[in-house]
Amino acid sequence: MRHRIAVVGGGPAGLTLARVLHRHGYPVAVLERDPAPDSRPPGGTLDLHEGLGQLALEKAGLLAEFQTLSRPEGQAMRILDTAGTVLRDWRPHPDERANPEIDRGQLRDLLLGPLDVRWGREVTQVVPRTGDGPLVHFADGRQETFDLVVGADGAWSRVRPAVSPVTPQYTGVTAVETSLDDVDNSHPDLARLIGDGSVAVYGVNRSLGAQRNSGGHVKVYAKFRAPRDWHAGLDLADVEAVRSSLLALFDGWAAPVLDLLSHGTAFVHRPIYVLPESHIWAHVHGVTLLGDAAHLMPPLGAGANLAMLDGAELAASIAAGPEDLDKAVRAFEEQMWARASKWAKITTAGLERLVSPDPAEALALFEQVQPS
Ligand SMILES: Cc1cc2nc3c(=O)[nH]c(=O)nc-3n(C[C@H](O)[C@H](O)[C@H](O)COP(=O)(O)OP(=O)(O)OC[C@H]3O[C@@H](n4cnc5c(N)ncnc54)[C@H](O)[C@@H]3O)c2cc1C
Repeated sequence: MRHRIAVVGGGPAGLTLARVLHRHGYPVAVLERDPAPDSRPPGGTLDLHEGLGQLALEKAGLLAEFQTLSRPEGQAMRILDTAGTVLRDWRPHPDERANPEIDRGQLRDLLLGPLDVRWGREVTQVVPRTGDGPLVHFADGRQETFDLVVGADGAWSRVRPAVSPVTPQYTGVTAVETSLDDVDNSHPDLARLIGDGSVAVYGVNRSLGAQRNSGGHVKVYAKFRAPRDWHAGLDLADVEAVRSSLLALFDGWAAPVLDLLSHGTAFVHRPIYVLPESHIWAHVHGVTLLGDAAHLMPPLGAGANLAMLDGAELAASIAAGPEDLDKAVRAFEEQMWARASKWAKITTAGLERLVSPDPAEALALFEQVQPS
């Protein structure tokens, strides 16, 4: 049975869906807004959990390749207080494979493999139709009909309005990201501070963290509670002005910790938005959502994992009952909603504890999820 299936978005959700469908012999059109795979920086590193992202890769037949590429040592997690004293220094056992790290670019290339992505195809709207399949509108004015359109187009999904009026809401927490290159040679003190994986420092309503990517690249994240317009009067493109403003926000913290903010040559503003913890919708014939488009939640190591498992499970559901596409999608949606709601509650509670008036909450959370 040959259905016309389109997945909007070539992120972890869309590519996993496409790759597992491809494995089952189903063609799928991946419609991606970016003009090319490397047209923008791919972002930081992702830890893929055994029962989530790794399970999805297993369903795609890619687990062995992931194990070769991933960094188990990247699971290491060090926590300091604002005076720079090490409070906790968790290192994985050499055989520990529960949550190894992989660079987003490596994961994307692994998933892309033989897929034929239509790059530079920005979708502006999807119109569900009862008699015919949904109609996809593109930014260049073109239109195309499919039997199933899957919105895997992330937080600000253009497919979502076809099934749900809900939009993401600001959590009250903002992240500002910067990067360091060649950390071992250029910033050896910071390399020692960060260790093999991540370092995090928790203060009152704010945190400063750094995470190793491959090749000596490091992402640094400053997170803090602030109104959405906290940067009023600050030019976010002015690197030195943003640096000064962040250093003022973390005033009084130990110099070796603040040094994480001293070398970045660009700062990216990432206010944290979420969808409601239980975002469900009345099933719409021929259209569904997965990944962040369906269940955007705080970035606490679950989003990409869930996105990938969504993709793998929707593909498996379609392959198991291709004669009734709608039934396959409904079955998938029920499964996704239950899992996503559970994780949305976990990550929302986690964000409250990690960017908290009481920094001891963050330490207690790590003791719970990663016992010493
Ligand atoms: C700082 C940070 C750190 C994180 N760390 C982790 C982590 O360690 N582990 C983890 O599991 N999760 C993590 N997450 C969450 C994770 O990044 C997301 O949950 C995940 O990327 C969602 O995947 P997705 O495929 O649903 O959406 P996305 O990754 O957002 O991909 C959407 C794709 O759709 C494309 N697109 C968008 N609009 C259109 C359009 N109109 N037409 C066509 N294409 C379009 C985009 O270009 C993009 O390629 C983190 C998030 C952040 C912000």
